[in-house]
Amino acid sequence: MIYIKEKPYKMAGRMFHINDSIVSLGGTNSNQVEFGGSDFPIIAGPCTIESKEQMLECAMAVKNSGAKVLRGGAFKPRTSPYDFQGLGEEGLEYLSLAKEKTGLPTVSEIMDSSQLEMFSDVDILQVGAKNMQNFSLLKSLAKSNKPILLKHSFGTTVEEFLLAAEYILAYGNPNVILCERGIRTFEKETRFSLDIGIVPLLRELTHLPVIVDPSHATGRSDLVMPVAKAAAVSGAQGIMVEVHNNSKCALCDGAQALSYKAFEFLTEEIKKLMPFRHEPLNPFLGEISE
Ligand code: PEP
Ligand code: MN
Repeated sequence: MIYIKEKPYKMAGRMFHINDSIVSLGGTNSNQVEFGGSDFPIIAGPCTIESKEQMLECAMAVKNSGAKVLRGGAFKPRTSPYDFQGLGEEGLEYLSLAKEKTGLPTVSEIMDSSQLEMFSDVDILQVGAKNMQNFSLLKSLAKSNKPILLKHSFGTTVEEFLLAAEYILAYGNPNVILCERGIRTFEKETRFSLDIGIVPLLRELTHLPVIVDPSHATGRSDLVMPVAKAAAVSGAQGIMVEVHNNSKCALCDGAQALSYKAFEFLTEEIKKLMPFRHEPLNPFLGEISE
């Protein structure tokens, strides 16, 4: 007898929603972006917005190399309270200026629902790994009509990740993009451990767009390119990459930042891989057993 295994995530799963969901960002013509369709949008920018000049320069550089969405952290969830916490609202103003200058839509991490008004000009609200199971935040963001970029917390299972997405869907916002960025294991050479198998697995289990963040996954600029390439051919529908003009002086995550030149090279290499992208053949492949 063939039966379909029940999953606790009813709205995020493929069971009642077989076809891939597409999360579209408004914008006119050339700046329109779709996650989950045939495109492979690249999100790029600095980990942290450090100054107006840095943000604007980096925005132009990544746009010229083909980035489709601009990232920049204004509120940083740092492990230590003594580390740079981001420029806050001032940073978001620089991100808006960069958006105006480049025409690119933006993404930035929101840490608390009280910040929603400040994020009115940000196109995608990012929920960071450390907040993936902040259920009250997920519920409040579900009330906003903006796309949510939900990052996989480093201490949770795929099922817990999809249940976090389920919160956003169940509370009213269908526009969720999932971002795999590695989990914590005993390995210390890389910042986190990226199980690349999770990418095609997620594509089977969910209709939501899946992207990969090779920067936080590895924590090392030399590993960003090969991991980004692996993501592209394993079924990811985009990547998010950190870029800095002078990574040695970066206020946050310098070791994993790509230079402008390295980012340009990465986008060229990724283009070559587009014919080899993995697509799940049968959405129920992993769900049907005898
Ligand atoms: C980030 O993307 O800025 C970030 C902090 O990543 P993560 O939440 O995955 O650690
Ligand atoms: Mn970072």
